[in-house]
Amino acid sequence: MSADMPYQDPTLPVPDRVADLLSRMTLAEKVGQMLQLNAKDGVRAAIEEMHAGSILHASPERVREAAALTEKTRLRIPLLVAEDCIHGHSFWVGATIFPTQLGMAATWDPALVEQVARATAVEVAATGIHWTFSPVLCITRDLRWGRVSETFGEDPFLIGELASAMVRGYQGDGLDDPTAILATAKHFAGYSETQGGRDASEADISRRKLRSWFLPPFERVAKEGCRTFMLGYQSMDGVPITVNNWLLNDVLRGEWGYTGTLVTDWDNVGRMVWEQHIAADYTEASARAIKAGNDMVMTTPNFFAGAQEAVELGMVPEATVDAAVARILTLKFELGLFENPRHPDVALQERHIGSAEHAALNLEIARRSLVLLSNDGTLPLEGGLTAGPDGRATGTAPSRTVAVVGPNADDQHAQLGDWAGASGQADWLPEGHPRHMTQTVLDGFRDHVPTGWTVTHARGADILTVGPDPEGAFFPDGQPRPQVVVPSEPDEALIAEAVAAARDADYVVAVVGDCIELVGEGRSTATLDLIGGQVALLDALAETGTPLVVVVIASKPLVLPPSAMNAAAIIHAANPGMRGGRAVAELVLGLIEPSGRLPISYARHVGQQPTFYNQLPGQHGQRYADLTQSPAFAFGEGLTYTTVAYDDLVVLTPTVTADDTIAAQVTLRNIGSRPALETVQVYVHDVVSSVTWAEKELKAYQQVVLAPGETRTVAIEVAAADCTLVDADGHRLVESGAFELLVGPSSRDESLLRGGFTIKA
Ligand code: BGC
Repeated sequence: MSADMPYQDPTLPVPDRVADLLSRMTLAEKVGQMLQLNAKDGVRAAIEEMHAGSILHASPERVREAAALTEKTRLRIPLLVAEDCIHGHSFWVGATIFPTQLGMAATWDPALVEQVARATAVEVAATGIHWTFSPVLCITRDLRWGRVSETFGEDPFLIGELASAMVRGYQGDGLDDPTAILATAKHFAGYSETQGGRDASEADISRRKLRSWFLPPFERVAKEGCRTFMLGYQSMDGVPITVNNWLLNDVLRGEWGYTGTLVTDWDNVGRMVWEQHIAADYTEASARAIKAGNDMVMTTPNFFAGAQEAVELGMVPEATVDAAVARILTLKFELGLFENPRHPDVALQERHIGSAEHAALNLEIARRSLVLLSNDGTLPLEGGLTAGPDGRATGTAPSRTVAVVGPNADDQHAQLGDWAGASGQADWLPEGHPRHMTQTVLDGFRDHVPTGWTVTHARGADILTVGPDPEGAFFPDGQPRPQVVVPSEPDEALIAEAVAAARDADYVVAVVGDCIELVGEGRSTATLDLIGGQVALLDALAETGTPLVVVVIASKPLVLPPSAMNAAAIIHAANPGMRGGRAVAELVLGLIEPSGRLPISYARHVGQQPTFYNQLPGQHGQRYADLTQSPAFAFGEGLTYTTVAYDDLVVLTPTVTADDTIAAQVTLRNIGSRPALETVQVYVHDVVSSVTWAEKELKAYQQVVLAPGETRTVAIEVAAADCTLVDADGHRLVESGAFELLVGPSSRDESLLRGGFTIKA
């Protein structure tokens, strides 16, 4: 091969390079470019025999091996190396693991989320990985679903804000920046509309419903330049997303003008054969997937022969294969991989991975992710301490004992959550990240209580053990089946130890929740209970009379028993990442202020599903015969250590046209003695609409710092063009008429001030 073929000339325009390279490729090489293969199965055959365009789940060693093999291929087309780096560089030993998306979402802070994605990209890019399968734009609907922690919660607007930020952070200033990595908007679209929370179940979802809630965040990032989209697993109206021509071609590539690359989810093409039974064989499945516009086919090795045969039999034109390959090659050229394949760089790894700067950012987002759900005044302890120069609390408080108990008080894996280290997707770090990198809640208290205080610890309860799945060790596609969960019985000895610790303490902090065996694909839960011995532990702790602070470290909102609901305080921590334990201790001690807001509602009972706030009117009554429908904690809720009063909502533009902006103002007063970072939430209610529509929808929010005693008038703006609904024919539009602006600290009706405005035709 000569070194001066046109496609190797970086001065030529990308389309010319793509055309030249395509003209030199055999059909097998083209089909190979469309394959993304599992590097855990080895990379030699994938690269040498199947000409794979991409690999995923490659250990550091496999990344180096693949790089060397690729250099020796006929056309030397660089590989795209992909990984699920979804809250940090998940499977790189020693990387910075941030809170999960659900944790990050509680900050409601796109700028901070963008910084996290940028830091992640810098760590990832140094290791020879070019593509992350993040962010997740699925809307949480049923909390039983196993993938709630991967989402930004339940609101399409908040999801759009945060996903857009994350894509910007990953992709940086442009793909030619060597620290840019490809972002993936996933799982397109409707995957989270499960039946009973069961993963990948057929989504009973109309096109109108998709357009109403599920598609808007995807539309936003498609138009903002997110370079790849991953297709969900599920079918809708009997059609798997992989071959949903309407969604992929009419909507995504048509209406939205998306020119990026589509990647299937895991073996989606194969699933049409062996799972969904809508294709007779791999030739048919491959032909249909190509015709629907898929570019990269994840982990379906049989696509290699199937697609070639489909072309040879005339089931799909070769030009359609060429179009997909052109999109993949375009990405590779735009990333500059032909000039600089971005192989692992040890010097950059040493400089960036797990750096002090990233640890500081991680602490910042962990602090901001905590949501104070209830507080009888016990927090902050002793009225609030202050941090000395070493971060340890100081002050004149008398010596105290804090008992830190519960199964998640000292569990680094629960704290990091899914897709991190030992969560099961990568086999090259079975122990997960080095223990010393994660500060658990117990570590946080030990490191941050004032000198002279005592921190005691008792586990108090186990959550579960696991055993083999009676259905067998592997799924039909060879993927290992997760082991089956066996909830632990309450253990009297463990409880007695924790109760003794609580009795001897001035305060007891009980850290409960779930653990990685209860999280993820194929791990949806039937209940939302604190399983194992946890409820018995909380009941016993409550009986001691020692002020009880409950910290929930969990992948999703769980149903809290009365002993927790009546505790002195409750903190929602999601999976708060490597610095989460320190952040929790700081919050309890009053070294920082609580500022997070729930991006998702907590149910009182699993039978309340779904509990999302933006429900439709029309049902009879507002309660079940045996229970309220009101969630335990609603979307947007979160307390501070002070009191912020909202008054005097004034709509300054009572009548507008659809092209105008609705302007309003509201007065906030911090009437307590501590500062607040207040999230002023703005919802819109369409008074009369042609179709039923959500009673309220978040349209804007602002984060405002208020010093003790400070009063501020906050200006609010909402574009009338955003006051839309989706009509019966599926068109998103603004209907003229009366609206209400709802402004306050949460989505709860009783917390919102209301002001009317009219949009005239
Ligand atoms: C998940 C995706 C993930 C992919 C690759 C799939 O099972 O649904 O979210 O990106 O695996 O690991």
